Amino acid sequence: MKIGVLGTGQLGRMLAHAAPEGVEMAFYGNGDAGPVRGLGPVCAAAYDDRDALIDFTEGLDALTYEFENVAADHLHEMAERVRLSPPVRALEVSQDRLVEKTFFNELGLETAPFRAVDSHDGLVAAVDALGAPARLKTRRFGYDGKGQFPLQSADDIPLAWETLGGPPLILEGFVDFDAEYSIIGARDLNGRCAFYPLVQSHHRSGILRVSVSPIAVDRALVTEAQRISRAVMDTLDYVGVLTIEMFASGDRLLINEMAPRVHNSGHWTIEGTTVSQFRNHMLCVSGKDVELPQPRGYSMMINVIGDYPSDADAARGAVHDYQKSAARPGRKMGHVTAVHEAMADRDRHAAAVLANLDDVPPGTLP
Ligand code: AMP
Repeated sequence: MKIGVLGTGQLGRMLAHAAPEGVEMAFYGNGDAGPVRGLGPVCAAAYDDRDALIDFTEGLDALTYEFENVAADHLHEMAERVRLSPPVRALEVSQDRLVEKTFFNELGLETAPFRAVDSHDGLVAAVDALGAPARLKTRRFGYDGKGQFPLQSADDIPLAWETLGGPPLILEGFVDFDAEYSIIGARDLNGRCAFYPLVQSHHRSGILRVSVSPIAVDRALVTEAQRISRAVMDTLDYVGVLTIEMFASGDRLLINEMAPRVHNSGHWTIEGTTVSQFRNHMLCVSGKDVELPQPRGYSMMINVIGDYPSDADAARGAVHDYQKSAARPGRKMGHVTAVHEAMADRDRHAAAVLANLDDVPPGTLP
């Protein structure tokens, strides 16, 4: 069986490493192909090159993506030629923060309050309606804290407007959250779902730095997170791994965003569970049954950002070097996973790492 992946980054690399026996991989993308070198042929072409995308489907048994900025029109055409999962609709929803938040609210799922912003006057009205602080974000192409401006008061409107370069934008009310969680679920072709333990994520400047799982958290919150994930996956007739990032505020869960793919907050599952998010994604995409993951202990994952993993990183746990061709400030270069037998030891380790985080600028390129 031959599975194609749109994208040549670290997620493609880890998907290939998790491929079931007998599966061949092929990759498509015009970014740094260092992470997937040696793991399958790479079609080096632009993501908006319709003909090259169509050619890429030739000879594939299944297609998936790890890169999210491919035009939905092209994906629909590809999906007529080869089984594409997760479904294009999931990607379309996640590509636009306004569409995404509207989609969640229509399912009865809670998000931060928001307003579409299409003009400077519209921004003034939105700040008036939602109050400050608030976050102005680009509707599309934001990642790792890029494309965001935190407004402290209405005085910040001119700078926020100038910084983000105009519409289409969205203003979100500021969520005074207690914690950030993500729920990673997987759904197979038969509609069976499996969930990973809830992950707590720690961001700085909008970039994920450390995630920990399993965590001590109210059972009701876990049940609610799984209900949210299942509702989204069933609605979309989803196949593959879906990540939903949420804010916890008291006993409420507000959805921040979803990623229709394997996710940085699930990298710990490679060492930390019996079946990683990458493995489950590959199983679902290739038409096999989803497997129920069991945690192997108490895990934490630390992102290595801006430079290649060092000996100091390797001393912390299992180091993953993404084999990127060049290091850049803010670029994710690798990660480290430590699995502890006791939750208290893991929590101490995570607290020590979090207390000593250096500042990194928002990402330049993924
Ligand atoms: P995003 O790019 O939307 O995932 O945002 C990156 C990070 O910025 C989140 O993980 C939060 O830490 C923070 N953030 C984003 N939106 C909000 C919000 N509406 N209120 C408070 N913090 C936010």
